[in-house]
Amino acid sequence: MSHIEKVQQWLAKKNFDIAYISDYKNIAYFTGFESDPIERTLALFIFPNHEPFIFAPALEVESVKEAGWKYPVYGYLDHENPYALIKSHIEKITHDPEKWAIEKGNLTVERYEAIKAQYPNANFVGDLTPLIQKEKLIKTPEEIQKLEVAGKWADFAFQVGFNALKQGRTEQDIVAEIQYALMKKGIMHMSFDTIIQSGANAADPHGAPKQDLLKPNEMVLFDLGVVYQGYISDATRTVAFGKISDKAKEIYDVCLEAQLTAQAAVKPGIKASELDKIARNIIDKAGYGKYFIHRLGHGMGQSEHEFPSIMEGNDMELEPGMCFSIEPGIYIPGFAGVRIEDCVHVTENGCEPFTHTSKELKEIPLD
Ligand code: MN
Ligand code: MN
Repeated sequence: MSHIEKVQQWLAKKNFDIAYISDYKNIAYFTGFESDPIERTLALFIFPNHEPFIFAPALEVESVKEAGWKYPVYGYLDHENPYALIKSHIEKITHDPEKWAIEKGNLTVERYEAIKAQYPNANFVGDLTPLIQKEKLIKTPEEIQKLEVAGKWADFAFQVGFNALKQGRTEQDIVAEIQYALMKKGIMHMSFDTIIQSGANAADPHGAPKQDLLKPNEMVLFDLGVVYQGYISDATRTVAFGKISDKAKEIYDVCLEAQLTAQAAVKPGIKASELDKIARNIIDKAGYGKYFIHRLGHGMGQSEHEFPSIMEGNDMELEPGMCFSIEPGIYIPGFAGVRIEDCVHVTENGCEPFTHTSKELKEIPLD
């Protein structure tokens, strides 16, 4: 059953007349057409017993067709009122739908009021957000294949980045080298701003790369990922740039043990919270628990903000096809930060990572 058919079935079961999908990432999920319309209106309408349609800015209509969408697509020009036009297209299918399902997690108040003005007596109680989040939990084989390709490009990016580490260069220089090499290979978008942090800078888990020179005999943290056909990669490696201290080695080893142990424990039926606990116990026992200041991992697919969340309190049992990161970190302010991250997909008896760059501590010579 297609993703759209699942929504149709849900609408019929819940007695809704229409679904209005507004999140462009979700439109891509259902239709294969991805474009961020910014302030313009892009919408997908799904009906329980009728074919769906896309409503798009006129300048996008041809791209929708090229993406393989086999149902109607209607365009509008910038000076037209999109919501009045939407109403005219809906009227061809169903007269004044009363019960609407919308994405409460995405539809802006402005857009909600605009559609409500066209249908003042309708009620907008249905919420598609949890339904779509649940549907996205289990990736199809086609989605997993794209995630694997995105992972291969992250591995490529690590190699470029490791080779670029040289004295006299800055963190930002390394970001530039990586993204230049990827763009020359046709990978035009990173899944988030590449993080390169040297020495104590890495103690800030979400810090941006600086113009600071790479510090010799310190660790360097790389957190990066690319977008491939609408699907992302996300991986972290921390390497030694020259000879690092015993204490730095120690936190690296603890973090690595936590990452490997949690990754080895992934299998259908284990709870998300249990994985977090496995990694956290190892870091706690080594005395660094207070420096592991985030959840173990997050779901991923089209973005790095999906489900399941791998954290305390989430007792969801893992199933084949779920995709998420395993990324323990130890961040000691003023000293250093280590994070090691792979994203994996759950298989019938374990998991497979999307990235394969070695996690053994890599020492990069200073010259
Ligand atoms: Mn990451
Ligand atoms: Mn991540």
